[in-house]
This record gives sequence, structure tokens and C-alpha cells, in this order.
Amino acid sequence: MCEILIKLNCPHCQSRKIVKNGRKKNGNQNLLCQGCGKQFVATYQNKGANPAVKRLIVGLLERNSGIRDIENILQISRRCVLHTLLQRGKSLRIRPEQDHYRSIQIDEVWSYVGQRKKGKYWLLYAYSAEHDQIIAYSCGSRSAKTVRALINKLQGVTIDEYCTDHWKSFTKVLPAQKHRIGKEFTKNIEGVNTCLRARNRRLVRKTTCFSKNKEYHEASLNIMFHHRNEIKLNHHTF
Ligand SMILES: [Zn+2]
Repeated sequence: MCEILIKLNCPHCQSRKIVKNGRKKNGNQNLLCQGCGKQFVATYQNKGANPAVKRLIVGLLERNSGIRDIENILQISRRCVLHTLLQRGKSLRIRPEQDHYRSIQIDEVWSYVGQRKKGKYWLLYAYSAEHDQIIAYSCGSRSAKTVRALINKLQGVTIDEYCTDHWKSFTKVLPAQKHRIGKEFTKNIEGVNTCLRARNRRLVRKTTCFSKNKEYHEASLNIMFHHRNEIKLNHHTF
């Protein structure tokens, strides 16, 4: 009898400090990484459960690959791709990192979710040109309610100046003495819009119900904004 020794790396952190850690329900050997404390198995029957595959899915989502493309490239189920999208998206929060901003620019971008017939679905977001970071966003109808939802996410943050275009809902919500209106104040965010439009394609299917679609939509926005913010923090090109 010959014994073959296979050395494993942790699929999460690549550490070699692996110990046995009981058995899974299906009888497979469970392993524990002493480097990062995460558990894993040597071979995954369900490919989508493999952390390395999950990382690939997230990477492809960040780079704007469609759900169907990911399914085909990685040979995994749609369910698995959508599950990873939600899981990753929900784990991220787009929020202000500073407690004071001298100036922020807010703009609205038309986005669409599924086949929602009545009313358009807008993405509204706040951008700090000084930090080159997206600090909050809200989605909804083109109304003051969506502006309020965005401003609520900036509570507790001091903002000296809000720059927007002429959209009426902004004037209804933003404090007049801090509000600058006009294209000359929103040049930077217009540039970000162009990038986002090129980057963001609809990631969800037409046939799922609206509320579910909305969940996936926001998860994909979280992934996109988080990815952009990270890239800009590291001074790379988005
Ligand atoms: Zn590890």
C-alpha cells in the first residue's frame, strides 16, 4: 500500500497550518485553518460552496459580468451566483468615512429593475470629490422622498455645501443656505456618472418579482460602489 501525502492550503488565506476538525454530515473530512480560523473541506461536491469559486464570482460581479456569463464561465448554477451576489452585497455598507465634508455633489442616474412598468427607478448618490469616494446612495422614484432617504444616510455628518443640478426635489429637501445649484458645481460627479453608466449593467433577471429584484439590484450597487471606492482609495483606475 502506498500513502500519498497531499499538502493543502487554506482556500481563504492560503495558510498551510491546517488541522482535521471532525467530519461533515456527509462523512467528508472537515478541516480547520489555524491561520484564519475558518473551516473548509478538501473537495467541494457543490462547486459554488468553494471559497475560491466564491471569490471568482465576486471578482466577476465587481467587473460587471452578467449573471449568465458567470454561470457559463464558471459552470455553476444561477442560484449559486445570485446567492453569492446577495451575500456579498448585504455584507457591504456604503457610508461616509469622514464626519465632516466641505462639499459633496449629489446626482441622479436612471437605473432600472426588472420590468417595473409604473414609474422609473432612480439611483441617487452623494460623492465627495475631495476624497474621490461615493459616500451614500438611495434608490426610488424621482421624488423628494428618495432625496430624503439619501440625506438620512448622511445624518451625523457635517456637510458645508451640497452641489446638485436643477432637479426640483433637491430644493425641497436641502437647506437653501448650503445648496449650490448648477452644472458648474457638479462637474466631478458627472464624470463619475459616465464611468458608472459604462460599468453598471443590469445584473438581475426580468422575471423575478420586483421586491426580490430590488434586493439584488441594491446588492449589486453595493458591490459596484464598494469596489470603486476601494480602487480609488488605492489610486487605481476604475
Ligand atoms: Zn485560512
